[in-house]
Amino acid sequence: MPAHLQPKLVNTDHQTLPLESLCRQLQTELGTNARGRLAPTPSGFLHLGNVRNFVLNWLLIRALGGQVGLRIDDMDPQRSQAHYVEAIFQTLDWFGFDWDFGPQSVAEQAEFSFQKQTDVLYPIAQRLHTQGLAYACDCSRKTLQDSPTYPGLCASAQKTWQAGENALRFAAHRFGYPDDLVIWRRDGLPSYQLASVYRDQQDQINLLLRGADLLASSQFQQHLAQALGGYLANTQIWHHALLTDSHGHKLSKSTGAQPQGLANSGQSPALLFPAIAVWLDLPAPDSIRKLSELYQAFGERYFCP
Ligand SMILES: [Zn+2]
Repeated sequence: MPAHLQPKLVNTDHQTLPLESLCRQLQTELGTNARGRLAPTPSGFLHLGNVRNFVLNWLLIRALGGQVGLRIDDMDPQRSQAHYVEAIFQTLDWFGFDWDFGPQSVAEQAEFSFQKQTDVLYPIAQRLHTQGLAYACDCSRKTLQDSPTYPGLCASAQKTWQAGENALRFAAHRFGYPDDLVIWRRDGLPSYQLASVYRDQQDQINLLLRGADLLASSQFQQHLAQALGGYLANTQIWHHALLTDSHGHKLSKSTGAQPQGLANSGQSPALLFPAIAVWLDLPAPDSIRKLSELYQAFGERYFCP
């Protein structure tokens, strides 16, 4: 039997903690006040990497006695599709997840859609612009194609912002963050970053577990949250290593997803739990066949020292 290691998590200050220590810290600092969310994107079928992230968020919040929400990230109307929204509910149900806030069904999702939030977010973007914390940018994709981060070309140009004509960037460099990401897209829609931070503030999210590829995004979001004034600036955001394929590549919607969605793949979720149990360093992983069994083993391993 190979020796396994418990996952290590890293926060936006690059502090690293083994899961066991993080559990203890969260118990002291958040306890039953913990609020987190599962946030699938309906632009493709979920893959195992997504599910593993949901499992960790769900287990941790449930073990703390906090509240877990569902938030479907349909910010991008071009990429979001109704049949993927349906597949999200099927997959979550297939795994046995439950949640306390957010949509409980496809029908309810219409109420929670990010596409209804443009009017709410516009004055917020405007305020950041007026305060000088955001600036208009006309740079074309071509101008920026060789820069990994925005080179600040429009940062002090004081261009007029016209929603639908040019983009609006948050002046994150002022807070020591190297990339002034877009908060209002050139096509007239709020960006993922702005929509996500605002919703997390509304939902009073104080615990997020994300993939390691999102660490820089989390740092940006914390600066943006601070500028918006409020929640998320103090949110605990921890990052875990990503699930990779046999070549060590990160799973993506195109490489890792079942073409018909996990819930319709014909396999039983029972077959997936042992691998997740191994990742979480739980004893007797092969005996774990259900989310409830995983939850029990997780609680005994990390919450009953
Ligand atoms: Zn520009």
